[in-house]
Amino acid sequence: MADFGWVATAITAAALVVTGCKRAAVPPASPETAINADAAPAPGLKPATLPGDIRPPTKVAAKVTAPGPVEIWKEFSGERAFEEVRKQVEIGPRPAGSAELEKARTLIEDGLRRTGWEVERQTFSNETPRGPVTFVNLIGRFSPTGQSPVPRDTQRAILCSHYDTKRFSTIRFTGANDGGSSTGALIELARVLALDPALAAQVELVFFDGEEAFVQFTDPDELRVDNADGLFGSRHYASQLRKSGRARQFQFGILWDMIGDRDLTITLEPGSPPELTREILASADALGLRQHFGRYDRSILDDHYPLNRIRIPTINLIDFDYPAWHTADDTLERLSPESLQKIGAVTLHYLRKALGK
Ligand SMILES: [Zn+2]
Repeated sequence: MADFGWVATAITAAALVVTGCKRAAVPPASPETAINADAAPAPGLKPATLPGDIRPPTKVAAKVTAPGPVEIWKEFSGERAFEEVRKQVEIGPRPAGSAELEKARTLIEDGLRRTGWEVERQTFSNETPRGPVTFVNLIGRFSPTGQSPVPRDTQRAILCSHYDTKRFSTIRFTGANDGGSSTGALIELARVLALDPALAAQVELVFFDGEEAFVQFTDPDELRVDNADGLFGSRHYASQLRKSGRARQFQFGILWDMIGDRDLTITLEPGSPPELTREILASADALGLRQHFGRYDRSILDDHYPLNRIRIPTINLIDFDYPAWHTADDTLERLSPESLQKIGAVTLHYLRKALGK
């Protein structure tokens, strides 16, 4: 437990753990056990960078001389983000391992490359309750000079989202908010960051596969992140960061999940990294958006957890107060471009402050 400092303490203290962005709006009948923070990371699985993944650097070089806007948060367009969400949702259900999720990947890759980002496919396989599944995380990096491959030692912050949707056999679940909203907004964030190459170079954008449990998160009595049914992509990414020695170069992470609800209230969990939380709330204050941030009374097990375990303080900006969660009603009609814009702006305001000009 000592290895994981405040994370383990906070989660143990919380006593009840909401598993996955995704379970238990209602408290379970019996307390769930604390997560086993001492266990070894997920089994090592090979990353695969495909030769076709690296884009030529030509367009990036042209951007080098353009100075970035000082108030970069004003550049984030809720409408553009919403259009990216729409494209994801129109693919239909996008569970891990499906042909539809490959279409989602192509859209993400196109979106990032369009604005000068290089995209790595981090491919791996893992056992699931439905048998072995191949997962693909997408990782975006940016070089101000157009260097290719982009150097991997300039990034200081991880901005991430999951892009898979939960598999249901009984309903047609297209995950507009849960999977779609944060993915579309992250593509828009890439566009905005590219306006300031020096800032973009300090950010690693990560789109996680396999956040959603295939069946459900592990039995509460046996809850261990390492063998949980879910968080496949973030567990693998974190384990690779740790093994490669890159984990120590990151100052913080920000996870977005379900950020598009028209009625937006970010539900910050008790274990949120204190300094990061203070600073992000200060940014929300500065932009007059503090009223959209509240507190949640339990921990939420989501893709930020494996990053916190490797000591990258990562906050989960999630609106878990969403009645349509994991229902057929999680549709575009429940979302608004304004909500996406607000989270994009607060995040960019903080990034400017934390990473400088
Ligand atoms: Zn979900």
